[in-house]
Amino acid sequence: MLPWFQSVYSQFIRRLQSQTLHHALLLSGPVGLGKTALADELAKSLLCKQLTAQGSCGACQSCQLFAAGNHPDFHPLVSEKQIGVDTIRGGIAKLSGTAQLGHNKVLVIHHADTMTEAASNALLKTLEEPTTNTYLILLASKLNALLPTILSRSEKHVLKLPAEGETLNWLAGQGHNDVTPATLKAYGNSPFLVKASLEDESKGLSFSEFQEGIARLMSGADSSVQLASKWQDSGKQVVSWLQSAAHEKYVQSLLPADYEAYSYCQQALKHFEHPGVNKTVILTGVLDVFAVNPL
Ligand SMILES: [Zn+2]
Repeated sequence: MLPWFQSVYSQFIRRLQSQTLHHALLLSGPVGLGKTALADELAKSLLCKQLTAQGSCGACQSCQLFAAGNHPDFHPLVSEKQIGVDTIRGGIAKLSGTAQLGHNKVLVIHHADTMTEAASNALLKTLEEPTTNTYLILLASKLNALLPTILSRSEKHVLKLPAEGETLNWLAGQGHNDVTPATLKAYGNSPFLVKASLEDESKGLSFSEFQEGIARLMSGADSSVQLASKWQDSGKQVVSWLQSAAHEKYVQSLLPADYEAYSYCQQALKHFEHPGVNKTVILTGVLDVFAVNPL
């Protein structure tokens, strides 16, 4: 279990053992927190036939099927786009009848905050009166995107980002020993967003590449035009990193030049929203501001 979920997870297990766990749980928290890992662990425990005080036993038939990704009573709903009414109806249909393993049934709705209104309405009855031995786990990053009727019928758990030290420890345990607090901040302190940026090159420009590039700009080794053409696909990300650096600098210095750099970034971010803009030109303009007034 992820260390920052240990306490909430233990509470779920205690309530599960005393048969007081709510049948509909809504787990909300920022993107990249690891909500899926928590939901999977909880589902495994809900389905386990020899539950222990620590959670699933890991050895029973149910746990083995779960580990093999083959559990007949575990139904995760994952949708690339908005979750439509047919997807929800399909999920609910799988909950009818008794569990194949004679125990619990679990439906996990990923990105529940993307459910359409019709999909949400289709879920209401099941949330209110689920079939026997049924648990629903809804995952969301934007609570306010859910209908009030969904919110009122689920037990809400707002999951918070771990403290900086805890995230850095966890990243070190994943083999990333040299992550700086600045890098964490660049990814909104989100553990899995940082991890993905370090491990997945297809994620685009990483914060450390950005820092190296800015250092080359400051030393004159790279020009703003060179950097801008290299970074045009990550233009918005580059400008928001520069904007937050400028903001931090201004808070310390209170110099008008630093405020102007910050406000220039803000304008540039708006320009990026216009269709057909030349991203390289916008980015060159921003980088020029920082070349003259280094961070
Ligand atoms: Zn088990």
